[in-house]
Amino acid sequence: MVKNEKNHSNNMGDQNHNNSNNSAVDLDLEDGFSAEDMINKGSGLTYNDFIILPGYIDFPPSEVDLSSKLTKKITLKAPFVSSPMDTVTEADMAIAMALCGGIGIIHHNCLPSYQANEVSKVKKYKHGFIHDPVVLCPSNTVSDVLKVKKEHGFCGIPITENGKMGGRLVGMVTSRDIDFLDDDDFENIKLEQIMTKLESLVTAQSGVTLSDANHILEKSKKGKLPIVNAQGNLIALMARTDLKKAKSYPIASKDDNKQLIVGAALGTREEDKVRLAALVQAGVDVVVLDSSQGNSSYQIEMIKFIKSTYPNLQVIAGNVVTKKQAKNLIEAGADALRVGMGSGSICITQEVMAVGRPQATAVFKVSQYANHFGVPVIADGGIQSIGHITKALALGASTVMMGSLLAGTSEAPGEYFFSDGVRLKKYRGMGSIEAMDRKDAMGSAMNRYFHNEVDKLKVAQGVSGSIVDKGSVLRFVPYLQCGIKHGCQDIGVKSLNGLREWMYEGKLRFEIRTHSAQAEGNVHSLFSYEKRLF
Ligand code: 5GP
Repeated sequence: MVKNEKNHSNNMGDQNHNNSNNSAVDLDLEDGFSAEDMINKGSGLTYNDFIILPGYIDFPPSEVDLSSKLTKKITLKAPFVSSPMDTVTEADMAIAMALCGGIGIIHHNCLPSYQANEVSKVKKYKHGFIHDPVVLCPSNTVSDVLKVKKEHGFCGIPITENGKMGGRLVGMVTSRDIDFLDDDDFENIKLEQIMTKLESLVTAQSGVTLSDANHILEKSKKGKLPIVNAQGNLIALMARTDLKKAKSYPIASKDDNKQLIVGAALGTREEDKVRLAALVQAGVDVVVLDSSQGNSSYQIEMIKFIKSTYPNLQVIAGNVVTKKQAKNLIEAGADALRVGMGSGSICITQEVMAVGRPQATAVFKVSQYANHFGVPVIADGGIQSIGHITKALALGASTVMMGSLLAGTSEAPGEYFFSDGVRLKKYRGMGSIEAMDRKDAMGSAMNRYFHNEVDKLKVAQGVSGSIVDKGSVLRFVPYLQCGIKHGCQDIGVKSLNGLREWMYEGKLRFEIRTHSAQAEGNVHSLFSYEKRLF
C-alpha cells in the first residue's frame, strides 16, 4: 500500500507510479517510531535496546548548543553531573566538572564538616591558585622533601612555622636547595638549614589577580609563587607549570558572584537538617536528596522543610522511575528529579530488591510527566558511552548523572593502584557493604538505602570494584561534549532544547534494536583491535 499521497508528486514517486508493482512500495517518509510509540510497545527498554534515526545535516557540530536545565532555576552549558559517590565526587571533581560547564554533587558518606569543607573549596576556587598545597615546617628534614617528591612528583614546597596552610610563611624548598646535598645525611639535615628564607623569596599578596600573579612569576623566573595575607600567613600557591597548562574555561558553571557552582547530597533524617545548615553556610547551590527510592513521606517532608527554610536553595529529589513517584515529589516542590533505579554499573538493587526499571523507559516516562510541570530530569546511572548520553537526552532528560564514566579520572577521590600492569582506581556503590561500613560516614550511605532506620543486618545494593585510569576530567568531559555535538548533528538538531522538542513532537524517530542489531552496531569480525576514543 502507498501510504502517503503527498509523496507521489516527488520524482521518485512519479517514476514508481508507472511501475505496476509500486502498490507494494511504502512511500511514507516517516520512518521508525516516535519515542512514545517505541516506549509504549511494552517491555522496558535500556539505552542499548534502541537507536535514533539520522536526520539532515546543514550545520557544523560546533554550532550545537548544549545548554540545558539542571533544575528549575539553574541552567548548565553542558548537561553533565557527577554522581554523589565517595569514589566519584569531592572538591577536585566538582571543580573540574564546573570548569567544563557541568556540576559535581559532593557525596555525604562523611562527616557534615568534611562535606561542607569540600563545598567551600569549590566556592573559593580560583583558577590557577593551589589552595591546599603540600606544606612542611622548618624542623622537617630533606628526607621529608624526598618523600613528597616520590609521592607527588614535585619538590617546590612552602615552609611555614607550623607546617600547615595558613601558618606564617618562613621559606621555600625547591630542588635547587637539595640537588647537591650529601645523600648520607638526608635524615639529619633540617629544612631551616637549607631553605630559601622569606627575605629572599618573591611572594604576592592575597587578592592578586591571576594575570598579575602570572606576570610576577614570569618576571621572577621562579617555579612557585606563594600568596600571603597581610599577616604573612600562607593562603595559596601558584605553580609555573600549572600556569603554562592553564586554559580558560569559557563555559564554566558560575553563580552571580562568578564563583563555581556546586551541589551536595544529603539524606532525609532529622540530623540531615544540621548537615544542610552547614552546607548552606558553605555556599552550596543545590542539594540532592539521596535516596534509591525517593517516593517516601521522609523525602516529601524534607523537600517541604528545605523549601520553607531556604527558599532560594534548589532541591533535586529522587530517585524515581515512575510517573506516580514523580507526582508526589513534584507536588512537594522538587526543582528537578533524579531518575534511575537499579541501572547503575555497581548496582544490584534489581537483583536483590526485585524493583527498579530499565533506564530508557524510566527516563522517558518520568521526563514526559515532569515536562508538563517544567521540572527537569536528570538521567542517573547506566551511562556507559557518549551514545548513551545522547539517547538519555533524546528521551527527555535535561542532564545526565555519571558515576563509572567519571570514576578512574585523576579528579576522582582515591589513589591509583596497579593490577596486572593496569593502572586503576577504586569505584564502589554507595550501597556496597564497604561504603556503608565507612567509619566516618555516620550511617549516611545506609540512609540512602534504608529509610530512616539503621538496620542491624545490612543488605548490600551495590558492589565494590575498580576502573581503569581515564586521565583528567578536564580532557574527558570536553570529549563527551564534542561527541554529543556530533550526535546532534547526525540527528539534525542544533540544540538540546530542540532535541527534546523534536522528541515530544514525534519528529525524532527511534527504532528498537534486536540482539543481532546491537552486535552489528558494535565492533565485530576483527581478530584484534584497539579502541582509542579521543
Ligand atoms: P553508573 O554511572 O556507575 O552506571 O551509576 C551511578 C549511579 O548509580 C549513581 O548516581 C547512583 O544513582 C547509583 N548508585 C550508586 N551506588 C549504588 C549502589 O550501591 N546501589 C545502587 N542500586 N545504585 C547505586
